[in-house]
Amino acid sequence: MSQEKIQGGAMGGVDELYREVILDHFKSPKNKGRLAAPNAEAQGMNPLCGDQISMTALIENDQIKDLKFEGHGCAISQSAASMLTEATKGKKIQSVKELIQSYKEMFGINEGEHPPLKINLDSLGDLITLEGVKKYPVRVKCAVLSSNTLMQMLDEFSKKKGP
Ligand code: ZN
Repeated sequence: MSQEKIQGGAMGGVDELYREVILDHFKSPKNKGRLAAPNAEAQGMNPLCGDQISMTALIENDQIKDLKFEGHGCAISQSAASMLTEATKGKKIQSVKELIQSYKEMFGINEGEHPPLKINLDSLGDLITLEGVKKYPVRVKCAVLSSNTLMQMLDEFSKKKGP
């Protein structure tokens, strides 16, 4: 076993090979900011680490036409938000929900509301680089903050829209 792991700290559990991708999203986040005229938004926070994420979206015809996030916190939480917006912008709501489910199953999380999906790694984009975080449950909360926030936004949007 020659594979090096970074222990503890802000990048706890992340494979050395992936650090660069993660730090790149942290330093130069994609889709950062706030939409001028969103029709959906949500906020999430992770008090364990002090991470905060807020998301704004424009949803039309069951598709996420545009999506931005703002926030602050550790490198894992903020890079995950950048990766997530990149992986989900322009997609249909249903496939975004499946992507989030696959992403959470990558960390061994299944809320029990649905049978496990066959994890679709291709759909995850750069989010796959965060897989090593699963060994550190405290860091997993950082990694899934933005996906929980996005899921909450989609659920609230569906309720508002009605059946
Ligand atoms: Zn964090």
